[in-house]
Amino acid sequence: MTHRIAIAGINHETNTFVSTPTDLSMFLDSGFTVGRAIVERYAGSETSIAGHLAGCEGDDVVGVPLLYAVASPGGIIADPADRYLSDQLLTALRNGGPFDAVLLTLHGAAVSKRAPDFDGDLLQSVRDVVGPDAIIGVTLDMHANLSASIVEPSDVITVYQTNPHIDAKDAARRCADLVLDTLRGRFEPVIAWTSVPIALHIAAQDTSREPMRSFLEHARRVSEQRGILSIDIVEGFPYADVPQMGMGVIAMADRDRSLAARAAHQVASHIWSRRGETSQVLSTPEQSLAEAAADPGTVMVLDVGDNIGGGGPGDSTALLHAARALGITSVFQTVCDPAAVTKLAECEPGRQATIMVGGRHPDSPAAPFEVRGTIRAASDGLFEDAGPTHDGDRYFDAGPSVLVEGDDGIDVLVATNRIANTTVAQMTALGVSPADYSVVIGKGVNGPRASFGPHVVRFIEADTPGPTAAGLDVLPYLRRQQRFPFEDWEWTPDPRLRVSQ
Ligand SMILES: [Zn+2]
Repeated sequence: MTHRIAIAGINHETNTFVSTPTDLSMFLDSGFTVGRAIVERYAGSETSIAGHLAGCEGDDVVGVPLLYAVASPGGIIADPADRYLSDQLLTALRNGGPFDAVLLTLHGAAVSKRAPDFDGDLLQSVRDVVGPDAIIGVTLDMHANLSASIVEPSDVITVYQTNPHIDAKDAARRCADLVLDTLRGRFEPVIAWTSVPIALHIAAQDTSREPMRSFLEHARRVSEQRGILSIDIVEGFPYADVPQMGMGVIAMADRDRSLAARAAHQVASHIWSRRGETSQVLSTPEQSLAEAAADPGTVMVLDVGDNIGGGGPGDSTALLHAARALGITSVFQTVCDPAAVTKLAECEPGRQATIMVGGRHPDSPAAPFEVRGTIRAASDGLFEDAGPTHDGDRYFDAGPSVLVEGDDGIDVLVATNRIANTTVAQMTALGVSPADYSVVIGKGVNGPRASFGPHVVRFIEADTPGPTAAGLDVLPYLRRQQRFPFEDWEWTPDPRLRVSQ
C-alpha cells in the first residue's frame, strides 16, 4: 500500500512588539515556494521542510510538496498576507488530495490580526480539509507558544530541541517517521501536553548551557521509558504578547494516555522547580564592548535588543555609537539599510565615502551612524553555508551589500535585506573574516552561535534597547497570563490529553 503525504508549511515568528507589520511582499520576496521547486530549494539544506521531504523517500510513500512560505521574524502578519497564505495552502491541499497524511512545518509563534494563534487556526482548517482520518504531523520551532488549538488537530508533534536550531531537519524527520509508522499501523500515538508558565529569558535559551541543557537531559531520561515515543520541550517566544506565551512540554506515547500524562508532568515539574535559574543579568553595552576589546581574541558582542532572529529591525546603531564613544577600534557590524546601499553602489571599491547608516526603522533605539572611510568591497549578497547554521538554512540572500572600512577602525557591512547574522559566510563573501577584528557585533542572541562559535573566543550578550530587549519587564504586555519571572507562585502541572485522539 502506498501512502500519499502532503508536505507544506507557513513559517513565521511574530514579534507583536514590532511596530511595522509583516506583509505579503516579505513572504513573496524571501520565501514562497510551490510544488517541486520546494525540493530544489530546500532538499539540500538542514531545514525542517528538508526533513519532511527526506522522510517521504520510502518505497511505500509518495511525498507531494505543495507550498512552503517563510518570512524573517517581524511584526504581526498583515491582512491580506494572512488569508492569502492560508488560502493558498488549503486550496493546494484540496486540489492535490486525497492524502493519507500531511506533514506541516509551522513555527508555533505566528500571530496575525485575525488569528492571534495563527498556527492553531491554520491547523484546524487543515483538519477540516483532510478530514478526521488523515494523519497530521507537525514540526514546530522551539520558540513555539503551545495551545490547545495547535495540539487538538495534530496527531504527531515534534519540536526542534536545540537552540541555536541545528536539528530542524532531524526534528522533522522524527515527525515524518512517527507519521509513517502510524500509517503502517505500528503506533497509535497519544499526546499529553502542558504549558509551563515561564517567560524564558532569551539569554537562558542556549541549549548547550544551563539550565536548558539539564532540562533537555532530564526529558531525554524520562523519554527512555518503554512506550514513550517522544518528549519535546518548547522554550516559547516571549516577544509574542498572546495568552499562550510561555514554555511547554509535549509527551507522546504509544496508546498509553496516563504514561504520556505522567511523563509530561515529570518534565514540566522539573523545569518549574528550577525556574529561578532562568533569570539572567546582562552587561551594559559599554561593559560588553570594553570587555570584548580587552580580550586578545575575537569576541562577538550580541546586540540583544536588535535580534533579527527575534524580529529586530537589524539597523540599530546603539553599539556602533557606544564603540565610537569608547574609542574602540577593530569593530565589525552589519546594518540593514537599503537606501544607504543604493547610494554606496554608485561608488567604486577603493573610493572614499561618507554616509549615514541605520537608525531609520521606527523601533530603532539609536540615531543614524556616520561612517567615513573607504569602500572595501561590494557584492550581490548571495552566499551559501553548508552548515551548521541556525534553522539549517543553507542559501542566503542579503541583497546588494557594501563593506565600508571606517577611518576610525569601525567597519560596517551595509546590506539591503534584513537577514540574521547566522552565518560567517556573510563576512567571507566580502573578503573579511571574524579573525580580522577584535569585536564582531552580532544581531542575534543564540542564532549566531552555531556558525560563529568556531571563529570567536566567546560571546558577550549586551543589554541593548529595542523590540527584542532582554529585560522582558520593559515590554508593554497586555495579553499574557501569569508568568514567571513577572509573578512567582506554587504551581503544579496538570497535563491535558489531546481530546480528539
Ligand atoms: Zn526559533
